Amino acid sequence: MKKGLLIILSGPSGVGKGCVRQEIMKNDKLELVYSISMTTREKREKEVDGRDYYFVSDEEFQRNIDNGNFLEWANFVGHRYGTPKDKVEQLRNQGKNVFLEIEINGANQVMSKIHDDRMISFFLMPPSFQALENRIRKRKTESEEIIQERLQKGLKEMTMTENYDYIVINDKVQRAAQEIIDLIKAKNKKR
Ligand code: 5GP
Repeated sequence: MKKGLLIILSGPSGVGKGCVRQEIMKNDKLELVYSISMTTREKREKEVDGRDYYFVSDEEFQRNIDNGNFLEWANFVGHRYGTPKDKVEQLRNQGKNVFLEIEINGANQVMSKIHDDRMISFFLMPPSFQALENRIRKRKTESEEIIQERLQKGLKEMTMTENYDYIVINDKVQRAAQEIIDLIKAKNKKR
C-alpha cells in the first residue's frame, strides 16, 4: 500500500487557514484526515475538545514534550501548540493522507525533519496585509493586545515562505481550496 501523503498548510495567523482547510476537507475523494493538535490555549466558545484541538494544561503539554510525543511543537502568542507524532505515522501507514494545519515555526520543524517525497507543503498568503488585519479583527475573539501581537507576528511571517512547495493566495476561500486540492491530486498521482 502506498504511504499516505503528509500535507502541511501553514501561513500567518488570521490568513484563513481554518476556512480553507474546512473547504478542502469537504472533498471526500482525497481521503484526508485532519491531525488534531494539542494546545494549552483556552477553548473558544464554538470549539469542541477532541475535534478542534485537545485542550490540555501546561503540565500535560510538558509531559508530552518530555516523552518525545510531538512531531513538532511551537509557542504561539503565549500558548503552546503541537502535533502528536504517533497518530500521524499510524494514519499514513494505513494509506490515509494526513492534513496538518500549523503555524510557521512548526511547519519549518516538520520540513527540516522529514525528507519524504510523500510530503507536500502550502504557504497560504493573504492578498494584502490589510486583508489580514481585517480578518483578525473580524474574528472578535481576542483582546486588542493579542490582536496587535498577532498582527506583528503576521507581518513578519508573510516573508517566511522559502521552504514551501507552493504559495497560495487566499483571495477567495473556494478558489484557494480548489488550487490546493488540484495540487494534492497531482502529487498523489506521482509514484
Ligand atoms: P489558534 O489559536 O488561532 O487556533 O491557532 C494559532 C496558530 O497555531 C494558528 O496559526 C494555527 O494554525 C497554529 N497551530 C494549530 N495547531 C498547531 C500545531 O499543532 N502546531 C503548530 N506549530 N501550530 C499549530
